[in-house]
Amino acid sequence: MKFISHLARTVISTLVFMATLSACNATPTHRVTQNSKAMTEKQHPANPYYSRSDTTSLILSDAVWKEVLTPAVYDVARHGSTEQAFSGKYWDTESKGTYFCAACGNKLFRSDAKFATTCGWPSFFETVRPNSVLYRKDSSFGMERTEVVCGRCKAHLGHVFDDGPPPTGKRFCMNSIVLDFEPDK
Ligand code: FE
Repeated sequence: MKFISHLARTVISTLVFMATLSACNATPTHRVTQNSKAMTEKQHPANPYYSRSDTTSLILSDAVWKEVLTPAVYDVARHGSTEQAFSGKYWDTESKGTYFCAACGNKLFRSDAKFATTCGWPSFFETVRPNSVLYRKDSSFGMERTEVVCGRCKAHLGHVFDDGPPPTGKRFCMNSIVLDFEPDK
């Protein structure tokens, strides 16, 4: 009788554990709701400046950016750090959807413009809009490169090179950490 009671407790504990695991796995990374604004606010509760609809220029002090961004996003977006190759979450993904600036919500790229590379960073051959990004000359590390920054908040996103595929021949080499991906519904 004692053995059966112990067995029943074990089975119940296992079922509760499995149910908890299942609930965790069922939590979507990107919530899909009817209300886009509510969705983005949930994703960025500490950043009141994040908006996927406001395209006006966003100028904030470094102190404010440090307060509203995670340390990892802040390092890349505001101080031009580069994430390690093959370490970002989007370098080899093929899901259909849209990529937004992780600092301000500005729409940047569509998955249709993403292509497979061996460089270890997510790469695109064109932006969603010509003014989605801005360009700056970058002469750091003894190289002449073109830096790509967000057209709305000027966050550092990565660099653009001329060795991309048709139709543009461009390779926008981006840091995953400064991109937010929203899958198509
Ligand atoms: Fe931005």
